[in-house]
Amino acid sequence: MLTTDELERYERQIIIEKFGEEGQEKLKRAKVFIAGAGGLGSATSIYLMAAGVGMMRIVDHDRVELSNLNRQILHWDEDIGKLKVDSALEKLKRLNKGVEIEATEATITEANVSQLVADFDLIVDAMDNLPTRYVVNKAALERNIPLFHGAVYGFEGRAMTIIPGQTACLRCLYRGVFPQEKFPVIGVTPAVIGCIQATEVIKYIVGIGELLTNRLLIFDGLDMKFKEFKVKKDPSCEHCGHLVTKE
Ligand SMILES: [Zn+2]
Repeated sequence: MLTTDELERYERQIIIEKFGEEGQEKLKRAKVFIAGAGGLGSATSIYLMAAGVGMMRIVDHDRVELSNLNRQILHWDEDIGKLKVDSALEKLKRLNKGVEIEATEATITEANVSQLVADFDLIVDAMDNLPTRYVVNKAALERNIPLFHGAVYGFEGRAMTIIPGQTACLRCLYRGVFPQEKFPVIGVTPAVIGCIQATEVIKYIVGIGELLTNRLLIFDGLDMKFKEFKVKKDPSCEHCGHLVTKE
């Protein structure tokens, strides 16, 4: 049941066709795991907080640096040196007291990932490196938790939604490991991609619209174009190949 305050707070989304109070109640029951409190994590968590998901856990191991502030909009001048999760928690709490939020300082590894994501309904991939994305992809598939992928580079970004047992996964999409290096980013790119991920999360929870599955959406900010590529579930994929395809 929604409270009087919630009915007022979320009025403009409740009146969206097929959304309704029922959609809002679904959001209120949802538990979302956000892997990363950087650029993508800032955008996704702010919009999911504002939309009224029930519970969020945001995980990161880094501290705020001056060079983060061009894009990681949850972190401000005064936060330099603080843990990103602490800085994020403080801002997000002020946005919406109705959402339960947990901030966990951790480096996601194969050893801790299952424990970290246990009890969560959805995972947002707001990470910045492929090895950790693979770890989370595998855990999401094993635990049957939908994964919402986003990545950025300069003015370009990409997004894809993964439903375990049904759609292509991250490992079907990417092969190998890219070298870890300092990559270029302007803040608007994670904002665009993070909002696409948050849109997908909301649609998935409410159960409306067409998800971004089996297709990779590429945002090209310089030419201002969205392109789309079909991604096929690879039957020999080492992460999802053994899962039985439903539907
Ligand atoms: Zn796969």
